[in-house]
Amino acid sequence: MQEYLYEAPLIVFEGIDGSGKSTQAKRLLRYLKRYVDSGAKYTKEPTHQIPKGNEIRKVLMGDAQMDPLELQKLYVEDRDWHLHYVIIPELAQGHTVICDRYFLSTVAYGSIDSDIDTLIEMNQEIEHFFLPDLTIVIDIDPKEGLKRRESDSELDIFEKEEKTSKVRAAYKRLARRFDDVIVINGARSEDEVFEDVLRHVNKVLVRRREVIPQREEEVIEQVKGTPE
Ligand code: ADP
Repeated sequence: MQEYLYEAPLIVFEGIDGSGKSTQAKRLLRYLKRYVDSGAKYTKEPTHQIPKGNEIRKVLMGDAQMDPLELQKLYVEDRDWHLHYVIIPELAQGHTVICDRYFLSTVAYGSIDSDIDTLIEMNQEIEHFFLPDLTIVIDIDPKEGLKRRESDSELDIFEKEEKTSKVRAAYKRLARRFDDVIVINGARSEDEVFEDVLRHVNKVLVRRREVIPQREEEVIEQVKGTPE
């Protein structure tokens, strides 16, 4: 595991499918590019870039089977690739990176079948791993998450309600165990969720990028000013 050495922050969005992660992550990207850091980048996991990346997709689509821990090892290998070739080079250039799913996804989803500590260690053992400055877990009832994604044809094997409830519970436990992980209520309008996101992100920006602390009403004004 690496020491965190970069001047720019890594901000991660987590949560079950349909919680609104991508919506909030992309909105934060537009906000950062406009007000804070024109070089900010959005990226997501899994990247499917490692040679075995397509095997992850086949298993998720139910077209192949794999031992659950082996599957999680592929996610972790994919993460090492992602850190080495995408995330770290951007941070090294001083660009804020927003990542849609990261380490907690492996642990929360993997914990349905595997031991949590084994999953955490698997991540910590990879060469390029480090913990983000901030992880925002968007919390939502699995029924609501599934409803939001009803039209999505790519429903994978994890998106069954019972499993998703376990993942949701795992995220909450993990948020208590790790520093810099916050859980926010995703069952609200996009604007309301984004207001919460900005409050937490602004604390990181003040600390890491030396931006001037914002007053509450300024945050709300900027939510309005950030294009959909
Ligand atoms: P995720 O990345 O967590 O799977 P998305 O951001 O793709 O979730 O959102 C899933 C669906 O829910 C999209 O159609 C999106 O427009 C919608 N959505 C996102 N946030 C909200 C919200 N706060 N309220 C209602 N619908 C939302």
